[in-house]
Amino acid sequence: MLKLTNTLTGKKEEFRSLEQHKVSMYVCGITPYDNAHVGHGRCYVSFDILYRVLKCIGFDVRYCRNLTDIDDKILKKSQELFGNRMRFHDVTGPVIDNFHEDMAALNCLPPSFEPLVTDNIDAIINFIVKLIQAGKAYQSNGDVYFSIREFPQYGKLSKHKLEDLRAGARVDVSERKEDPLDFALWKSEPEGEFWSSPWGYGRPGWHIECSALASKFLGSQIDIHAGGLDLIFPHHENEIAQTEALTNKPFATFWLHNGFVMINHEKMSKSLGNFFTLRDIFKKFDPMVVRYYFVTHQYKAPLDFSFQDMTVAQKSYARLTRILDSVPCDDQEPLRIDTIKSDIAKHMIEFLLDDLNTPGMLGVLYESLDSVKNDREILCEVKLLLQQVVGLSCKFLPEPEIVITPEIQDLIEKREQARASKDWGRADKIREQLRELGYEVQDKKLR
Ligand SMILES: [Zn+2]
Repeated sequence: MLKLTNTLTGKKEEFRSLEQHKVSMYVCGITPYDNAHVGHGRCYVSFDILYRVLKCIGFDVRYCRNLTDIDDKILKKSQELFGNRMRFHDVTGPVIDNFHEDMAALNCLPPSFEPLVTDNIDAIINFIVKLIQAGKAYQSNGDVYFSIREFPQYGKLSKHKLEDLRAGARVDVSERKEDPLDFALWKSEPEGEFWSSPWGYGRPGWHIECSALASKFLGSQIDIHAGGLDLIFPHHENEIAQTEALTNKPFATFWLHNGFVMINHEKMSKSLGNFFTLRDIFKKFDPMVVRYYFVTHQYKAPLDFSFQDMTVAQKSYARLTRILDSVPCDDQEPLRIDTIKSDIAKHMIEFLLDDLNTPGMLGVLYESLDSVKNDREILCEVKLLLQQVVGLSCKFLPEPEIVITPEIQDLIEKREQARASKDWGRADKIREQLRELGYEVQDKKLR
């Protein structure tokens, strides 16, 4: 039985789907104005594992992940690069291609649906029209806003109180809202720009796209809605308000959120400028090592990213794949949970079913490595599980030989000089620099 921690209730609950044998799952996708970073990688690997676990249990899963290909940041970039906001597709096209490459490199299965917002403007406009007709939204100067006072349960996911939110709300004077908490469903633009709508030319706000796309591709009630922790408020809260204001039914039964990726105990994010793109990391580490590194952490726990830990992960993945890739297995049959024979693989699956406890699963594997090594049948079953359910290719990945480039050599020498002149501060700084480049310096006593 699968158990998942539901943000809505704050509890770990037994998973039950709305329809027998079927699961609908929506995961908020990227805003393609720049390449995906490690935080995105972690999010999509986490929910790819969930997707694979659900399939292994025997569910027929419909998985939708959108692409927010219209947004303020994209328009800003289009203006910067091309001197024209209307060339936004020239910004998003190449980034989306890179994203698909990154996801394939991480061995994330493609979702069943991957809609672009700009391909679905009609569905979004229709959704807004319905909200206005139901009295849950209103137009104001060509913009349309969702009316928070029409949804008294607002705050139920993030556990925010309306009065607290209202006290802290800041209102842009250009926005004519009835309540400072009301949020934009449609943003007006000059005549002829973007899309025409019943309220004039404009473009959709961010939150409405996910309500509209989930409803179009999966239905107005879904089993699982997932994303990063930073999306709980306001994005997911607003999605709930939009959808449930129309349906009066729970939008999603399970709301799942993966933990942050931190760098030096600070949240990693594009806006803080302390982030690594997946492509940066792939230059130093094989994408399978990156996936393995994610798997060594439970998806809800914060992950303090470091190249040092990545190097450790690389070593253990090399050791593991040396064993698993040494024996040919005639696999390729889809692994189903009820056909697993070995106690080791059964025990591993139990950990996965317990809120995707991947480190617990690896713990079982490492404890039983001797038995796995010595029994071909068990080895092949464990390998199949890792390949199909955890998404690790298990192809032998030797540790790369250490290459000392002239740049690295130069840094090492500078650090030696700093140490010789007892300039410990500078020596530490260079050590940190080397660490960021993926090199760990080990000192012996100076004579
Ligand atoms: Zn979303």
